[in-house]
Amino acid sequence: MGNEFIYAQPVKIFFGEGKFQELGSVLEELKLSRCVIACGKHFAPTAQELMEKDDRICAVFGGVEQNPQLSGVIETTRLAREHKADAVIGIGGGSAIDTAKFAAAIALGEGEALEYYRGERPFPAERLAILAVPTTAGTGSEVTQVSVISHGTEKKTINNPAFMPKAAIVDPLLSGTVPPRTTMNTGLDAMAHALEGYWSKNHQPISDLMAIEAVRLILENLERAYRDGGDKEARRNMAFASLLGGLSFALPKTAACHACSYPLSEDYHLPHGEACAFTLDSFVRLNADERAHPRPQGPGRLAQPPERSGPGGSGQALP
Ligand SMILES: [Zn+2]
Repeated sequence: MGNEFIYAQPVKIFFGEGKFQELGSVLEELKLSRCVIACGKHFAPTAQELMEKDDRICAVFGGVEQNPQLSGVIETTRLAREHKADAVIGIGGGSAIDTAKFAAAIALGEGEALEYYRGERPFPAERLAILAVPTTAGTGSEVTQVSVISHGTEKKTINNPAFMPKAAIVDPLLSGTVPPRTTMNTGLDAMAHALEGYWSKNHQPISDLMAIEAVRLILENLERAYRDGGDKEARRNMAFASLLGGLSFALPKTAACHACSYPLSEDYHLPHGEACAFTLDSFVRLNADERAHPRPQGPGRLAQPPERSGPGGSGQALP
């Protein structure tokens, strides 16, 4: 890129240990009074307790699966319509947040979820607010307009401005009980987001800086969080790294490793982060020459990586 760029980031981010306890004041600040929660079965009992304590939570769908299914979107949408909700809160890994995004985007429309999923009907102009609460450090879904939803054997990554959350609560304490393998999977996903955003042909200097910091934090903290889930500093740094990873690919989009990950997930059932990491070291080598100048070259100047050679290339941004 040259000396021009566009950067925008619309999500209000509440970051810090214990921030989830302040959900009530966040809802007040955002003026949300009728919320449906979408979460997985592990978080469902907590979500039910929240609903009993706070009458602004009017329903809970606690059946989001690991590879979120359209059926979960259908049920969350049904609850949102039935309760005339003004927001959908996704609490969990990317699955719960992606389910919340899709349901919030279609709840005020006339059609069925499948019609939107198949692209047979445009997404409605009006939508419910999306509040994203990640409980793993990896997907970055809380700051992107991407939702990955499966329907039967079909898995679709849909990129739509309607999926952009209004706000995100990133509380590192929520990831304290995530088991080691999931910690590693999700952390590798964050690494892939940062590197692929950085390699993308659409990369730009603000995203670059966040990508570089995300990778630094992941290299220093992922193994620590994996070996000791109770290491609060490592969890905090990974939560921040995941957020930065999300921000660093939100505009440039992901690239080759994510493209290669889809058949690995679908055909060999590798978890998403592992599937992305499968080709990560190869693409690190491939892209090393093209993006070896990460830092701004003196005050007031933007980093200008060398021109890319050849058509396509592993840094090709994907939709
Ligand atoms: Zn990913």
